[in-house]
Order: sequence, then C-alpha cells, then structure tokens
Amino acid sequence: MNKLTLRDLDVRDKRVLVRDDYNVPLKNGTVADDARITASLPTLRRLIEGGARVILMSHLGRPKGGPEAKYSLKPVALHLAGLLGREVRFADDCVGEVALRMSRELRAGEVLLLENLRFHPEEEANDPGFAAQLAALGDLYVNDAFGSAHRAHASTEGVTRHFARSSAAGLLMEAELHYLSRALARPERPVVAILGGAKISGKIDVLSNLLQKVDRILIGGGMAYTFYRAAGTEIGNSLVEADRVEMAREVLAAAHEAGADLVLPIDSIISTAADGTAPTRVTDGAAIPAGFLGGDIGPGTVKLFREKLADARTVVWNGPLGIFEVPAFSAGTIEIAKAVAEVSGRGGVSVVGGGDSVAAIAQAGIPDQAFSHVSTGGGAFLEYLEGKVLPGVAALTEGP
Ligand code: AMP
Repeated sequence: MNKLTLRDLDVRDKRVLVRDDYNVPLKNGTVADDARITASLPTLRRLIEGGARVILMSHLGRPKGGPEAKYSLKPVALHLAGLLGREVRFADDCVGEVALRMSRELRAGEVLLLENLRFHPEEEANDPGFAAQLAALGDLYVNDAFGSAHRAHASTEGVTRHFARSSAAGLLMEAELHYLSRALARPERPVVAILGGAKISGKIDVLSNLLQKVDRILIGGGMAYTFYRAAGTEIGNSLVEADRVEMAREVLAAAHEAGADLVLPIDSIISTAADGTAPTRVTDGAAIPAGFLGGDIGPGTVKLFREKLADARTVVWNGPLGIFEVPAFSAGTIEIAKAVAEVSGRGGVSVVGGGDSVAAIAQAGIPDQAFSHVSTGGGAFLEYLEGKVLPGVAALTEGP
C-alpha cells in the first residue's frame, strides 16, 4: 500500500480529525462488545503520546436522518475514557459551533468524541458542505475505520478533499491493508481461500475474483448445498438458494475451465432439525438423505480441508462452515479455525474476516493472536475480496 500513514505525520499540537468505526453493539446504554474500540487504541495512544489534539468521529447504527437517543455515541465516550485512563470529552453534535469551539479548546494529548455522524443525512449523501464542516474541525485527517472504507461518505471520502496532502491511514487501517494485500495482491503461494456462511448471494463476486487469485477454494456452510444442487447431488432439506443454482453452476464451470481447485464438502453432519433439538449423524458420502438437512461439514471434510491446507503459505477465511451457533453443528467451524491458525503457527499468513467467523473464533476460545490478522471489516473485507477499490482507501493521500 502506498498511502500516507499516521507514521508520516507530525501531529504535535495539531488538531487531528480521526474517523473511527465505533459502530458497536449497545445494551442498556452501555457498550456490549468493545472489540472495535480496543482496535482503535494503538492509533489513539500514538496520537496522545505524540501531543496531538484528538478529535474522533464515527457512525453508530442506522438512525433515520436525525438524532435518536438510542444511537448516541455517548456510551462509547465513557467506555473509551475507561480504556484510555483519561478524560474523553463529548460534543453533542458532530458539526456546528459547539463542535468547532470544543475542537479549538482541546490541548495537546486531549481527546474529544463527536456525536454520531449519521444524525445528519448529509453524512451518507457525501454532502460537500457537510464534509467541509467536518474538515473545519481538524488540521490533519486520519482514517482508521477500515470497516467503513467501502462507503464513500462525507467522513470517509468527501472530507479528504480538504486534506489533499494530509489524509493518512491510521495504524489499524494500515494493518488491515497490509495483511489483505499480503493475502491477495502479492501472496506467498499456495494461497487457499475458505468460504462459508449461509448464502452464495452476496459472495458470488468474491468467488469469481478469488478463483483468479488463489490456488484453492474450500467451500462449506449453507452455501455448499446450492453448489450440491448445481452439481446434481441430493440435498434433502438443506439450505438452498433456488435462484442461485444457475450461478453456482457457472462458478463450477469457470473453476473447471480455469483448472482451479474448488473443493466442496464430501460429508456433512445432518439432522431433521436445524436448532439442535433432534439427533445428528454423519452422512456416508456427499448426498443428504430426504428429510434431513446439512448443518455442518463432516469429519471426512475436515480431514480433506486440513490436507488442502497442509502446504498453504497463505490462507484467507470468511464465513462459518456450519450452523456454529448450535453446539451440535459447531465442530467443523472450530476445527477449521484451528487449522487456519496452524498455517500462521508454522510461519505462513492467516487472515480471517467477517463478523460470524470472528464470533466463531471467540466461541472456540482461540485468541486473535493465533492468526496473522483478524479483520474488523465485514462488508469492507468482502468488497476487498471482490477485488473492488475501497473509496475510503482510494481517497487517502499517496505515500511519500
Ligand atoms: P453469512 O452471514 O452468509 O456469513 O452466514 C452466516 C450464517 O450462516 C450463520 O448464522 C450460520 O448459522 C449460517 N450457516 C452456516 N452453515 C449453515 C448451514 N449448513 N445451514 C444453514 N445455515 C448455515
């Protein structure tokens, strides 16, 4: 990545406007999961230690075009103050007189969080006037919100026009781009992609792009059964997207033509119920008998996928391999999570992304440190895998 980064900036006494992704779940007015907040700390600590005057901005949820108490970022300010061990001031509006005054009153090392950007519809509309109002709050701009980089909004794209020479990637953004490019732009081979999750729709462009970039694609989860249907394999009551069967058939044909190694499960854990209330058993072969549904990849598939990962130097994983929320169907995802971690354990690169995969790792009790990189991006991660340029990244100043 040849983009300006925080390391290139002299931040002392400067007002640094930072776009973070603090779109965190709240429960009873407090932060229920602070992973996205802790991910922002390295950049914040560097700014504070460097004597910057720090102004943070983010969106939270999907307010309907105006202020809504339940989407206030105030609980995030409190939580962040606890993590940093210092005061975090809070501005009730992200633009306007009060925000401007508070940004000017900040002294070196002090931190201000602005209220939810999406209380103004101009944010998502990428309104130039709104972007200019945000830009007035800072002398330098840092984008650390990889999870929002696939959106061209005022705080991720429009604002950068006011910082032509000083729109920098924060440390989190830098790490995300570093590992994603190591995984896909210039990977050490063989590269293996693992894709799971419920549906093919939404991942078809990922599949098409990855087919050209990686050496093997391993497919699990509910989406495998739409491929089964396309290949003429019985699927019983398994999840299927009837309107995507043709698409799946085209992907199989394209893979065959490209000589790509696209691997489908060879067995499944099946049951008559998806919620774990009925007994499970392992299929003998790929086909799912009538009356049953596939809830997880079977032990034969785990073994096969492990073999396909044995010589991998790079692995990218998105999406659970089964209904991992149900213990009876979680073993496949847990085993594959371990196998992915082993790739980096022996010196390769392992990158995991997408909310469900990250939740599965946590559920399996595998620490994030077991992987080279656990992405904070869901949609942004997938768009990167699709080979798309992320507007929030493209807008950053070119590196020195
Ligand atoms: P996605 O959002 O497309 O990544 O899908 C994640 C969801 O896929 C999780 O909630 C899983 O429970 C679900 N899932 C994974 N495997 C299956 C399966 N075999 N049948 C139904 N749902 C599944």
